[in-house]
Amino acid sequence: MRRTLIRQQHERQKLQREYAKTQRGRKLGIYLHIPFCRSKCAYCDFYSLANREEEMDRYLAALTNHLKETAPQAKSCVVDTVYIGGGTPSTLGAKRIGALLHIVKKHYHLTKDCEITMEANPDSVDLSLLKTVRRAGVNRLSLGVQSADDGELKTIGRPHNFAQAVEAVALARKAGIENLSLDLIFGLPGQTMEGWQRTVEQVLKLEPEHLSCYGLQIEEGTPLYERQEDYTFADDDGQADMYLWMAERLKRAGYGQYEISNFAKPGRESRHNLRYWRLQEYIGFGPGAHSDFGGRRYSFVRDLSAYLKGMEEGGPIVDDDQVIPPEERRNEYLMLALRTAEGIDGDWYSRRFHMNFRPLEEKLRNYEKRNLAVEENGRWHLTPEGFLLSNGIIVDLLEAQEHNTIDSLLGRESRGKRDASNACGSG
Ligand code: SF4
Repeated sequence: MRRTLIRQQHERQKLQREYAKTQRGRKLGIYLHIPFCRSKCAYCDFYSLANREEEMDRYLAALTNHLKETAPQAKSCVVDTVYIGGGTPSTLGAKRIGALLHIVKKHYHLTKDCEITMEANPDSVDLSLLKTVRRAGVNRLSLGVQSADDGELKTIGRPHNFAQAVEAVALARKAGIENLSLDLIFGLPGQTMEGWQRTVEQVLKLEPEHLSCYGLQIEEGTPLYERQEDYTFADDDGQADMYLWMAERLKRAGYGQYEISNFAKPGRESRHNLRYWRLQEYIGFGPGAHSDFGGRRYSFVRDLSAYLKGMEEGGPIVDDDQVIPPEERRNEYLMLALRTAEGIDGDWYSRRFHMNFRPLEEKLRNYEKRNLAVEENGRWHLTPEGFLLSNGIIVDLLEAQEHNTIDSLLGRESRGKRDASNACGSG
């Protein structure tokens, strides 16, 4: 009996060792959420709090503990992207950001060329901060510019003007940041097509490596939602024209559109964002942060006080936790891949999900006839016009997938038909 138990224990250990070997070198992304902002913008529904300077040190201690606590689970992984987002991480100050990155580097295996991004607002950076975070490892800066029109910036409650954005870009370059991304929003209150074109032209003069351009979403519960009657907005067709003009203009300026809202010079695509769209693993830290790790998807409470209390007193901080079922992975793949210029690889889809790609391909062929989708080197992706209608297209493909069963992969569908015709013939 004892010998059997020992043998079983050895077998279990051997299996664990073999499993650990297969996991070694697994790529991982780290997301650090900084929930602080100088003030709240009128359209914002991200989890961030204004004027909470006094809680920053406490928060840094909580994040540090959280990073240390989680590190053993990621010890066989290599981290190739770190993203410090928010909120406005630059409000945390250079020293705290440096300390945070020190902890990440000490407890996780970062690749030599790890992409380390920090988000910032033009009004919350100066040369000394940028130089310090650059030295600490930040090699990509994402600046929230949003518009080149000071009137528009004021209407949406941004805490800076465009001259500050121009200055922040110059300072970032001076600090040695070679990979710069700028965020813009179109469809702002009172914005015309000409106004949007002026913003894009002004921003192109700053020569960023990357641009993220989103259509304004008026979210319930935000000040802009309450005041929306006071403004005029471009209608759906107007926003669509702004989007298509921008996609064409950025293409001419040498930016590849690699996702619905993201454009980059060759090789400057955001590796961290690509990770989300490619269903690759990442661990998020901080209130409201999401993770996709070890086949589970989970998130932490969207409440700074609850998060701090949980980390300090050892209480629960997980808000939602689920094992991801294969059908959900399949749907996610379709939804996310169709947002990107990489698109869908039919062969990979069949192999990965044991599904027949043919019903989806038939749909895509129809979209191709309407210039909404295109097939290149065995991969299907949407065109800029298709990106505009992506929600409807994705729903249509998800429905086609619903009817797509393992039977069709095994060819049982066609055998069924053949059997039926044989039956007719023999009759
Ligand atoms: S700076 Fe960003 S996160 Fe902060 S309030 Fe404005 S939009 Fe929200």
